[in-house]
Amino acid sequence: MTRLVVLCIDPRESVDADENYNDGNTVFVRVLAGNVNSIPRTIDALKKEYDLTQTITATHGGCAAIAEVTDALAGRPICGFHVDSELTSQFRGKGVTGRKELEELNPALQAERAALLGLKNVKPVFMPEANLVAKTEGHHVAVVVKPSTLEISKILSAAGIANPGLAYVVQTQYADESAASLEVAVRRGGVKQIMVIGRENEKINEEVRWISELDFVKEKGVKVIPKPINLDAKPKSKSM
Ligand SMILES: [Zn+2]
Repeated sequence: MTRLVVLCIDPRESVDADENYNDGNTVFVRVLAGNVNSIPRTIDALKKEYDLTQTITATHGGCAAIAEVTDALAGRPICGFHVDSELTSQFRGKGVTGRKELEELNPALQAERAALLGLKNVKPVFMPEANLVAKTEGHHVAVVVKPSTLEISKILSAAGIANPGLAYVVQTQYADESAASLEVAVRRGGVKQIMVIGRENEKINEEVRWISELDFVKEKGVKVIPKPINLDAKPKSKSM
């Protein structure tokens, strides 16, 4: 029996994840705006790996990705191709165009998607920006790591990142399902370094190569580096 929590990549959501959801039996997925729509293969893989009995689609106020949606719906230019193709389309025709209203619509929209992907007992949760920790100023990095039940602050500190407030965190099973998230981190968050974290036996160098070829990574001269770490996963609880 495992709970799945889908959260945004926003650095402030790392604190939200550790404080409100980490019970050792919750697997975390992080994607821009908590956009379940863009990660069908990750969801499929997790359904096979875990006995998922509950899903929470947790999104937040002050979301940079929803700012992109707001711009797209108003016909203003947005940050890039990946974002447009994966995020904005699902918000069209809902009769809502303001940023605040779109942010509040988002968790239910993602919950609907999650149910369509066959997830059970799905619950939408919205975290207003006022309830999040303050934004951290400084040079942010983006971190790519597989979905897991581990505390995100532990993963980050094992990778040498002491302050979780400085890291956008992308947790999908497949590199290509992380492209739109990384695009927002790079183009809107000004990220100059992407760290691919994985255990020694994971093929993180392949992911580093794949991410290095993304258009916005090349264009902005972003450094993509592999970061092998040693952290034990919690035991799996699938009973089959
Ligand atoms: Zn966000």
